[in-house]
Amino acid sequence: MALIVQKYGGSSVADAESIKRVAKRIVDTRRAGNDVVVAVSAMGDTTDELLDLAAQVAPIPAPRELDMLLSSGERISMALLAMSIHSMGFDARSFTGPQAGMRTDSRHGAARIVEVTPTRLREALDEGAIVIVAGFQGINDDTQDITTLGRGGSDTTAVALAAALGADVCEIYSDVDGIFTADPRVVPLARKLSHVTSEEMLEMAANGAKVLYIRAVEYARRHGVLIHARSTFTSNEGTYVLGEGMKNPREPEGEAMEEPIVAGVATDLSQAKITVVGVPDVPGKAAEIFKIVAKSGANVDMIVQNAAPTGRADISFTLPKSDAAAALRALAAEQSDVGFEALLHDDQIGKLSVVGAGMRTHSGVSAILFEALSTTGVNIEMISTSEIRISVVVRGDELAEAARVVHAAYGLDGEVEAVVAAGTGR
Ligand code: ASP
Ligand code: MG
Repeated sequence: MALIVQKYGGSSVADAESIKRVAKRIVDTRRAGNDVVVAVSAMGDTTDELLDLAAQVAPIPAPRELDMLLSSGERISMALLAMSIHSMGFDARSFTGPQAGMRTDSRHGAARIVEVTPTRLREALDEGAIVIVAGFQGINDDTQDITTLGRGGSDTTAVALAAALGADVCEIYSDVDGIFTADPRVVPLARKLSHVTSEEMLEMAANGAKVLYIRAVEYARRHGVLIHARSTFTSNEGTYVLGEGMKNPREPEGEAMEEPIVAGVATDLSQAKITVVGVPDVPGKAAEIFKIVAKSGANVDMIVQNAAPTGRADISFTLPKSDAAAALRALAAEQSDVGFEALLHDDQIGKLSVVGAGMRTHSGVSAILFEALSTTGVNIEMISTSEIRISVVVRGDELAEAARVVHAAYGLDGEVEAVVAAGTGR
């Protein structure tokens, strides 16, 4: 008998019909002889609606109360799901985050799980019940207050439950079929991957891929949890996310296939670029600039410096569009102290990243990227690399075309256009 943890996103439980469909899927898994623990998100756009409501009664809602409010979304879906399972003749019990033993630090709205003590869940499982847990929430031991884990936190709830209970697999259900070699809405010939390594998945998620949340993948990697990302709306196999030393359970023993060098191409339109023009080319200026930027709360990604013989340099960096205004304000305030000449802001950039663990052992991977971009006449504005990733910044309106060409150049194109429910991945 296997223990399977399943997570259903908001789009999978958006209304009564969907909840019944999910209940049936859970019951089928139980019927097949498995123990089942489910982490569920709030129905549809509930979390956004609750955030809107909060904003209408208070400009800056108190974090403790906001968590109290948001945690109620998942309580609605968990109770309805348990009821629906009962009506199919199966025992199911719902538990809030605190009841499930999700213990977190005290950071409201961005709490981290510190320990999971699933005593009540084990009891319920031992008594033959299906266990339903409210996603995205926990309790802090010191304050005894309810916390939430941040947007998309139900993925992390599911993985943490899988780790604490020693589950065989953590299935993450959403409205897309799995992890693709690229976003199928951008690259129609993208293919579903049968597996991807967790380090590749982390790079893809950090660079624009939206199906799985980074924190959940990190947690799974640290605790050796096997993730299977798949669709609520089909019974197709999805994508396995493999941690260190894990094998794709669908691949026949001893027939390990040659791994492709590149796993996928990620695209991201959410960043902006700031250029600090005419920075005195003396030691310490970059430190000054990035201290100011960090203090503004901005999360810097790529950095490029061009030093000119004039004794002044231009420093460009990218950051989330939503961080740009604060960073610009902070830099402008210190312009005379730092001694730079001007600030430029560009929010029309796109970032394209090629990700693959095979880059470690293969040469010429970047040459393929640059060659493909040059044949389409796409100009590269910035370049950055990690051990298993190459990213370039291009014009935002050229990103889709660039992604299609690069996808083809690495031999990733499928034979037919991917049939994708144009889902949100949630
Ligand atoms: N309901 C929360 C959100 O929308 C948590 C989740 O869906 O994972 O962010
Ligand atoms: Mg949601």
